[in-house]
Amino acid sequence: MSSVDTKTILVKPRDSTADADLQHQPSAPVTYKLRTTANWVQKPYKKRNIWERLATLDLASDRCYIVQPQNPNPPPKLSAWHERAWLAIMIAPALMIQALWYYMVPENSYFHTWHPIVTLIFYHIAFIVFILNLIKHLTYYMDVYGTFDEHKRPRDYVADKDVYPLIRTVLLYTIVRTAGGLILGGYNRYAPPLLGHSISWAFPIKIGLWLIALDFFFYFYHRAVHTFPFLWKYHSKHHSTKHPTPLQSILAGDIQEVIEIALIPLGASLVMPLSAHEFWIAQCILVYVEGMGHSGARVYWTHPIIGEVLRPFKMEITIEDHDLHHRLGKSGRNYGKQSRIFDRIFNTISERIEGIEK
Ligand SMILES: [Zn+2]
Ligand SMILES: [Zn+2]
Repeated sequence: MSSVDTKTILVKPRDSTADADLQHQPSAPVTYKLRTTANWVQKPYKKRNIWERLATLDLASDRCYIVQPQNPNPPPKLSAWHERAWLAIMIAPALMIQALWYYMVPENSYFHTWHPIVTLIFYHIAFIVFILNLIKHLTYYMDVYGTFDEHKRPRDYVADKDVYPLIRTVLLYTIVRTAGGLILGGYNRYAPPLLGHSISWAFPIKIGLWLIALDFFFYFYHRAVHTFPFLWKYHSKHHSTKHPTPLQSILAGDIQEVIEIALIPLGASLVMPLSAHEFWIAQCILVYVEGMGHSGARVYWTHPIIGEVLRPFKMEITIEDHDLHHRLGKSGRNYGKQSRIFDRIFNTISERIEGIEK
């Protein structure tokens, strides 16, 4: 982990119109302690390289990077139905385009079915579009509601040295997850996305079980990397931020990347198999939950699939839970990323500070 150093960065005074600064260029001097060096955010947008420009999409408004007065109010509650509607609107178009294609192009045409390579390219692009919309959605919540613990420490910028690796990992992550879903789900080019066929009516239950299976594998992997010093070195990179942003969900060393991107979803799929189209929907929901958990947005948010089912057992996860996990560093707690089922069973919960539901 990099040492804490003091850097002078340029930030706007709080009462200025932060939203007018669309390129997130800070404008007045303030001394603030940074954990990592992030000189790239001080460069004018035009002087940023392509990777820095892509990382700019992850920046919320300036207020998220400046210590704020303590908010005496509990975090507002986000509507789970609003979030489910947002997910449906963002996920459905890709599936509808493929289904419409199969409906419109005659069956005897050479172009009627989609070759697996065409499907991979199409759903990979659709996944990236989904992630771009997701980042916009999350930074909007961060801007409007602020972030957890903002009265003590604001969000961390992506460090200079991590900008390129993070963008590269996003590309790797999206392609591996898209291809893996098509392979594991046994993509059949003659089966367009149709409810009751390639997408089961029982999908909400199937994905709920898949997410819990995923959390089971993730919990033990995650607890192990926090417990054993020889494994911590592979995970410590992810903890180089105490207050992450959506893009930093994917901050990881190479070995951690392989385990998290490929092996854990593979384990979940052996327990609860999904079809190729179901898999793609699951990937979108997974990345949505990951992004939410790393946004630090100061809201009471419910996991859109399993949150309400787990809440009576106090096993539901909220944004503050993973935010606390980052604040606690190696000492850990809150190891689950989809739920607190296993944290509750094995007594590794860190109680919430601000996000206590009223
Ligand atoms: Zn961790
Ligand atoms: Zn994390």
